[in-house]
Amino acid sequence: MTAPEVVAAHRAAVGADPDLDRCPIMGTYAPPTVEFVRGEGSWLWDRDGRRYLDLLSGLAVTSLGHAHPEVADALAEQSRTLLHVSNLFATEHAPVVASTLDRLLGGGGQVFFANSGAEAVECALKLARKWGPAPSGRYQVVSAWGSFHGRTLAALAATGQPAKHEPFQPLPEGFRHVPFDDLDALDAAVTPDVAGVLLEAVQGEGGVQPAGTEYLRGVREICTERGVLMMVDEVQTGLGRCGAWFAHQRAGIRPDVVTMAKALGNGVPIGACWATAEAAAAFAPGDHATTYGGQPLATAAARAVLEVMEREDVPERANRAGARFADALLGTAHVDSVRGHGLLLAVELTVPSAEVAAELFAAGVVVNAVTPTALRLAPSLLISDAEVDAGVAAIVDAAAAVAGRTGGSEGPA
Ligand SMILES: *Cc1c(COP(=O)(O)O)cnc(C)c1O
Repeated sequence: MTAPEVVAAHRAAVGADPDLDRCPIMGTYAPPTVEFVRGEGSWLWDRDGRRYLDLLSGLAVTSLGHAHPEVADALAEQSRTLLHVSNLFATEHAPVVASTLDRLLGGGGQVFFANSGAEAVECALKLARKWGPAPSGRYQVVSAWGSFHGRTLAALAATGQPAKHEPFQPLPEGFRHVPFDDLDALDAAVTPDVAGVLLEAVQGEGGVQPAGTEYLRGVREICTERGVLMMVDEVQTGLGRCGAWFAHQRAGIRPDVVTMAKALGNGVPIGACWATAEAAAAFAPGDHATTYGGQPLATAAARAVLEVMEREDVPERANRAGARFADALLGTAHVDSVRGHGLLLAVELTVPSAEVAAELFAAGVVVNAVTPTALRLAPSLLISDAEVDAGVAAIVDAAAAVAGRTGGSEGPA
């Protein structure tokens, strides 16, 4: 009934003979539970033809829903026209995508194209080191506990999660962590050897924890005063997800560096690191590169994504749909609170979130348990009201089912 890969993963998970039917994919992920074969808008279909409401979007990636026709057309056309020529030559879409991103970020900056979130962060970290030139001895980067910046060694070093560091010591040197959303701690950490501060405006993997407006403004002031780059990692929060083009814009600040990726290709791998022209000037030809960066297929996808996003005014749609989720969920049994911005939400439950997520999956709804007590919702920014309402009803039912089984508390309602 399911694909051989799923069966093999199950076999491995239950300790069955690992040499028999074993899938040669490294065991870095938990065994999959289903094979998806098709998607459309907010919906996914598995191998058995079963339909699922996708409230996760491949972890905030398919922000325009699955199989968006304009993105699909752009990809099909580009694949028949030109796939790759290298960064020795100019191509059609990269300058257009860079200009659009620069405009959405307030203008006056420049873009480096990467292939993932971690690579966008890697670019920012290298830029910070080049910005704090070697003779000055400024190379430290300050980031927050609970943060997530990716899995390459430098991005991992910036990530504020010691358990993820442990197996890979020694990590690159020059990273310092402070408590998130604590301005005094950041103030004390930005000493004369610091070149940059790297923060998420909402910690996504860290449990959907928004930074306070005053905190972000205070960080901006400290960085300006001390000539340190303020770098905001918007890989998860960027491109409309949080009800603004970029989540930091809610605080009315302008960072020196912004990283993005997940939503930019709607599922086609692409990342970008934007920096003010002044900061970007630290890079000279030869300082940084990647073979696929800005290549025609990925930038054709990103160009189509940005056109649809602007036409649909996705920040406004995220705000409206996010408010609809929060209003409907608040006050229901077993929901304690809802936090986040736009359509990056954590639903704090009074019952175990992993059990509710499993119950939801069995009922055909995809979410993720982002902490032991909270579900993360990151649906398509084009989600309809009816789909929001169906999602809410499913969450309420799933939480009630788990509470009924475990005798969980009733919550505030
Ligand atoms: C997902 C994520 C990354 C890493 O992106 P990859 O594409 O997985 O390398 C970095 N920063 C943040 C904030 C993220 O959410």
